[in-house]
Amino acid sequence: MRVDLHAHTNASDGEHAPEELVRIARERGVTVLGIADHDTIAGIERAVNFAKQFDDIEIIPAVEFSTDWEKREIHVLAYLVDYLDPATIALADKFREGRLGRAQKILAKLDALGVPVEFDAVAAIAGDAAIGRPHVARAMLAAGHVTSIQEAFDKYLASDKPAYVEYESASPHQAVEMIRAVGAVPILAHPLEVTRIIPELIQHGLVGIECYYAQYNEHEQRELVDLAKQYGLLATGGSDFHGLGRMGHMSALGKVDVPIEVVEKMKQAKEKVGNKKPNA
Ligand code: AMP
Ligand code: ZN
Ligand code: FE
Ligand code: FE
Repeated sequence: MRVDLHAHTNASDGEHAPEELVRIARERGVTVLGIADHDTIAGIERAVNFAKQFDDIEIIPAVEFSTDWEKREIHVLAYLVDYLDPATIALADKFREGRLGRAQKILAKLDALGVPVEFDAVAAIAGDAAIGRPHVARAMLAAGHVTSIQEAFDKYLASDKPAYVEYESASPHQAVEMIRAVGAVPILAHPLEVTRIIPELIQHGLVGIECYYAQYNEHEQRELVDLAKQYGLLATGGSDFHGLGRMGHMSALGKVDVPIEVVEKMKQAKEKVGNKKPNA
């Protein structure tokens, strides 16, 4: 059994279509795959439907929500989301729309900096994907303002560069509550630098933290597992895979040692998060 609970498709900023991601995962021997795109559930259904023909892989439907806390971006994962449920769809739409407004603000800054790109150009590149800085970077490249995606980030889009715009999103505390309200399991993503927020989030219903994260070394992972134990939280994990071709450090699909038990525990936790139909 190989468990990887954190991978992106091209429904957000991943490189591969949902079906392709499932295919790569099977090649790597992944038997439980979490699809966790940024602020969208759009890739889940295709992955689930495609995976149905195989008996060696299970898809765990998830979303990675971008939230705001003390001027930094915190990612909160929602696991076992009911992706066909209207309440879940409405929640994902709300976060996704936040990205749209932010992209427009980034474009206004680029305009003022003398490197204008059309919103339509960015939207065309993003397609159905939840819009993000990588799409803006590609539009800048296409417009000839930069000679590489990396240059777009290094000169304009990185968090300390002039066209950066902060997220105006929900707080992680609110996200944890909203995730529970739609019957999903809230897990704090890659929490190493923000461990001090964990006790507060537990008050709001946090169920687990991402410990077996491919970009953390063994010592760091162990530290987080200990922390999870101490707080009585689930210890989940994943690679944060974005694609084979780029983001080398994020290419580790399946290269994590997540104990299989956590999947069952997550399913048990889902039974307890409460009201699945807030409007019923
Ligand atoms: P966004 O979701 O709009 O904040 O964009 C986040 C994505 O932008 C990340 O997943 C990376 O793909 C990319 N990214 C962020 N910072 C950098 C950077 N300094 N250099 C290259 N890519 C970056
Ligand atoms: Zn990403
Ligand atoms: Fe993340
Ligand atoms: Fe991620």
